[in-house]
Amino acid sequence: MTQQVCVLGATGSIGVSTLDVISRHPDRFSAYALTAYANVDDMLTLCRQHHPRFVVMVDEDAASRLAKACSAEGMDIEVLSGEAALCEVASKRDVDVVMAAIVGAAGLSPNLAAIHAGKRVLLANKESLVMSGELFMSQAAQSGSVLMPIDSEHNAIYQALPDQYRCGDALPKSVRRLLLTASGGPFRKHSRSDLLDVSPEDACRHPNWSMGRKISVDSASLMNKGLELIEACWLFSVQPEQVDVHIHPESVIHSMVEYSDGSVMAQMGNPDMRTPIAYGLAWPERMDAGVSSLNLFEVAQLNFERPDLERFPCLRIAQEAFRAGGTSCAIMNAANEVAVEAFLKGNIGFLAIPDIIEAALSRVTSRTASSIETVIEADLHARQVAQELVLQRRPH
Ligand code: NAD
Ligand code: MG
Repeated sequence: MTQQVCVLGATGSIGVSTLDVISRHPDRFSAYALTAYANVDDMLTLCRQHHPRFVVMVDEDAASRLAKACSAEGMDIEVLSGEAALCEVASKRDVDVVMAAIVGAAGLSPNLAAIHAGKRVLLANKESLVMSGELFMSQAAQSGSVLMPIDSEHNAIYQALPDQYRCGDALPKSVRRLLLTASGGPFRKHSRSDLLDVSPEDACRHPNWSMGRKISVDSASLMNKGLELIEACWLFSVQPEQVDVHIHPESVIHSMVEYSDGSVMAQMGNPDMRTPIAYGLAWPERMDAGVSSLNLFEVAQLNFERPDLERFPCLRIAQEAFRAGGTSCAIMNAANEVAVEAFLKGNIGFLAIPDIIEAALSRVTSRTASSIETVIEADLHARQVAQELVLQRRPH
């Protein structure tokens, strides 16, 4: 029987890679539902290639344009619109696997719907876990939903852990620490004054990975590693002290697990997201992902550096937000999303990103993250405060 896959964020970088992997295994997987925000042209192309049963375009106008285009081409696809439709398709009875690849906080509700419905969830969208890690993990434990980390680092750690380990379990006592690798991003060698006038294009020119614009900026500021540190703490039930960030510019080792006997298990490969995606889809088996062999003669050298928290304060901010607990991580995440968007639009400089996040964290009071409503309220409040901070900094 083929497994039915719902791809949330199908037009994005992870979504397209997922569909590429799926199309290599038509006997095993088929695209049941695809979702996107508003990109009609890209979604129409995906519909022609993958013939999903359902499509969601969050934007209503985009949905009606897509529906017209599909019926004009004789494609029998049900096109839905609105945010609620994301939750609807992610929890449909026929869906076996949900690829959670929406960017940002918008992924929270559909991801939780998929978890609640007990689906196998391939988690690329780290922001939702950062916002509400405790609720997320306890819902997964309750529903029996299997979480597969797709973020390359967490996927690497999962692969280096014992076979019987599942996300959410306590780590085996024999694990001494997790080594989380980071490329260091395009500004690894920039001085603080060089960082003053970097452009959005500079920030999106990642040395090793091709990704969406938001995560590219997060990689450049090291907020991506901050989000991933928090993601690791929730997925693998560890404290930040047990996670050591290593800057590794070649991005060949995707992360490591150190055991009590001194063994360090690394997962390696070319930097291509189709590897973790195929792993998540095929688990506990393996299958072809279309990824070329790693040529270590060409790589020749593997380098490692300590992260510089002076130049890249976002990693420190994330460590502190996780320790503060409650809604602090949701506040941090929301302020980061607002600041990154403002930076991408050219409204603030790169160095304003951490300043705005810290200012939002000091102005919005953290509360116990007891329900999803509390988390969403903190997210909205932090967005409002961060928007005001952006306006104050905007060049007049
Ligand atoms: P992207 O910007 O390329 O794609 C985002 C997708 O989300 C698009 O399909 C878009 O239509 C959809 N979307 C955007 N806003 C939305 C909204 N408000 N409501 C519903 N849908 C919306 O992003 P990406 O690089 O593919 O990243 C997706 C997620 O995966 C992010 O959380 C990112 O951190 C994570 N991730 C990405 C990579 C990578 O290599 N790209 C690696 C690890 C983790
Ligand atoms: Mg990553």
